[in-house]
Amino acid sequence: MSIFNAENSLRFLKEVEAANNIVITAHKSPDGDSIGSSLGMYFFLQSLGIDSCICHPDPAPDFLSWLTGADQVHSWQQENEFAKELFANADLVIHLDFNAPGRVGEDMRPALEEATAKKIMIDHHLDPDKDFFDLSYSDPSCCSTSQMIAELIIASGHEDKLNNLIGTPLYCGIMTDTGSFRFPSTKPETHEIIAKLIRAGVKQYEVHENVYDTNTIDRIKLRGYALAEKMEIWEDLDTAVISLTEEEMKRFNYKKGDTEGLVNVALSIVGMKRAAYFSESEGYIKISFRSKGEDNPVNEIAAKYFNGGGHKNAAGGRWDLPIESAVERFKKALKNEI
Ligand code: 5GP
Ligand code: MN
Repeated sequence: MSIFNAENSLRFLKEVEAANNIVITAHKSPDGDSIGSSLGMYFFLQSLGIDSCICHPDPAPDFLSWLTGADQVHSWQQENEFAKELFANADLVIHLDFNAPGRVGEDMRPALEEATAKKIMIDHHLDPDKDFFDLSYSDPSCCSTSQMIAELIIASGHEDKLNNLIGTPLYCGIMTDTGSFRFPSTKPETHEIIAKLIRAGVKQYEVHENVYDTNTIDRIKLRGYALAEKMEIWEDLDTAVISLTEEEMKRFNYKKGDTEGLVNVALSIVGMKRAAYFSESEGYIKISFRSKGEDNPVNEIAAKYFNGGGHKNAAGGRWDLPIESAVERFKKALKNEI
């Protein structure tokens, strides 16, 4: 069941209609859903004759650059002065696909905190910091923020506005956040919305091709190396772990997105209940955790031992160098030795 109904979706429309300077933002380390929901919202507002501007912590990654409008995503990282002005002058900030100011990164966080703009959040992650926002639309039962945007458009009576331009980024966000419609978060409603998007003109095969069939030789080799040389299987713990140092990634000309989904390949091994991917970046270790089933929550481990959090079966965190000791910490945590 969608959290959007005629009443609360019209409330949203009232807010955007009353605003003059709207900024759409999303979390750090952009993914298909943060970019997809932002572009879907941007083009929906445009279809209503409402101008807005997208500004994220980082620019859109290469695997999403084919999306119409991806080149209009401004970033804190690359256009710092411009981004500061955007937030300072905004009278409405729409926060998509994250639910607490810290998720934009410590450098950009003050811009959100100090903004005098009205703050609206639309998000599907657990434990929203509702006090931070003036208006919150939080639905942790929904697979993606992109689906929530589609629900909002439909609930507000604007289903007829759905077209290729609005629908393609939304399809992309739903597809990537559901692992191509396979995670338990994929509900009948998800497929009903996908049907509407395809009817509205979205060429779904192009979205799949553009996101998944774009490997470079370096990427294939890096993934091959990671799986063949850098994966440990802890049989007694039903856990597979992959780790990559910065030097190793450089060796294969690593680009953002090259290791996307690698942790899921480790989890796909028969008998594995958990998988983790440790990667070194900018002086710390970033960790992605994945698990299968209800009984192996990884968000608790991420929160308790790695300053992180997330969902039961998909979580993340960070730890200090060196990478071996971060991996060792994970093993000890699983064995209840810390
Ligand atoms: P990923 O492995 O794709 O980077 O992250 C998977 C999920 O874990 C994200 O959707 C997010 O909910 C959560 N997550 C990742 N990194 C962090 C982190 O540093 N802190 C928290 N609280 N959650 C994270
Ligand atoms: Mn999402």
